[in-house]
Amino acid sequence: DLDTAWTVRWIRRSAEVLAAERAALNTLDRDIGDGDHGENMDRGFQAVLPKLDGLADDATPSTVLKLLATTLISTVGGAAGPLYGTAFLKAAGATAAVGTLDGMALVALLTAARDGIVLRGKAGAGDKTMIDAWSPAVDAAQAAQSAGGSAPAVLTAAADAAARGAQDTEPLVARKGRASYLGERAIGHRDPGAQSTALLLRAAVDATR
Ligand code: ADP
Ligand code: MG
Ligand code: MG
Repeated sequence: DLDTAWTVRWIRRSAEVLAAERAALNTLDRDIGDGDHGENMDRGFQAVLPKLDGLADDATPSTVLKLLATTLISTVGGAAGPLYGTAFLKAAGATAAVGTLDGMALVALLTAARDGIVLRGKAGAGDKTMIDAWSPAVDAAQAAQSAGGSAPAVLTAAADAAARGAQDTEPLVARKGRASYLGERAIGHRDPGAQSTALLLRAAVDATR
């Protein structure tokens, strides 16, 4: 099962990956937005790193996720800041008072995150947003958990589905966010937020090892 140390490793690994992919995410957002998604995500995750060093001894996965959420809300800005902030705030709520996360708790975490983004941004499936990575991830995590998969297996299923979901945004016309102003010109471009979601969920898998 995955504990507070895993949650901290997840965030550190996410920060590393987002820094490495910053330019690539900016490029995706330049194609169908305003070119700042990599910058926004990198700023937010770099801002949380020093705070992880000062965590209390009794920190839980939930308190760590809440720290991430409040940091993202105050530093990321744009559309992604409040959306990811809400996602991790709801994830923290869904895992409150749990010391270690088993497969079922991870499904609850991912489901709450996705539902938080929908509550905040009102995007549906196929609107070419980060929801198109989150929703397949939730479904795959649920299926892996029902099939008796371990916590890492649940996360791997989620990350694989998110990666496919991000790729599958390429042929879509956007119905939410800045890309929706482009109409058919968004076709052929991957949604940057779906791509960052895929990166975050892959980092969650990496953090299990
Ligand atoms: P901004 O568009 O304000 O510059 P970012 O570039 O950081 O913000 O984030 C853009 C991403 O936010 C998009 O690629 C998309 O995935 C996501 N997004 C935008 N609007 C919504 C929404 N209503 N629901 C879900 N995700 C959204
Ligand atoms: Mg942008
Ligand atoms: Mg912007």
